[in-house]
Amino acid sequence: MRIGIGYDIHQLKKGRPLKLGGVTLPFSLGLEGHSDADVLLHAITDAVLGAAALPDIGHYFPPSDPAIKGISSTTMLSRAVQEARKAGYDVGNVDSVVIAEAPKIAPYRERMRKNIARTLGVPVSSVQVKGKTNEGLDAVGKGHAIAAHAVVLLKQSDCEYRISKR
Ligand SMILES: [Zn+2]
Repeated sequence: MRIGIGYDIHQLKKGRPLKLGGVTLPFSLGLEGHSDADVLLHAITDAVLGAAALPDIGHYFPPSDPAIKGISSTTMLSRAVQEARKAGYDVGNVDSVVIAEAPKIAPYRERMRKNIARTLGVPVSSVQVKGKTNEGLDAVGKGHAIAAHAVVLLKQSDCEYRISKR
């Protein structure tokens, strides 16, 4: 088994949709970025890649690449899962924290868990998303940005395990 950690932060701006965990939340501001800027999916993507000791999200999706403009972060996470599978690992479980002064995460949590579980190919019971505020402190606390942390456990895939046991 292998563990990975991911962190990401994006600025909140007017005129952008707010996407978190593949869900569009009704909010006056959205996250700035080249892709759809889903900060939670980016943190999970980096945790998957990191657990397999693969390069980070910027290697597979460089911000300078015009082809990634507006790309769905679900596509980015799918790619990370594929790369981990190629390296011989399946996702075990994910835990994550979204740090946002607003909006509240709880009403959207179950939809986020379902989206993430579907993309990772795991049961919903293997995915958790928690919401926190920053108690009014720093840029996140002032409502200028949303940050996310994630940890992912990868398991050696069954077929790789059998080969290594021979
Ligand atoms: Zn990001």
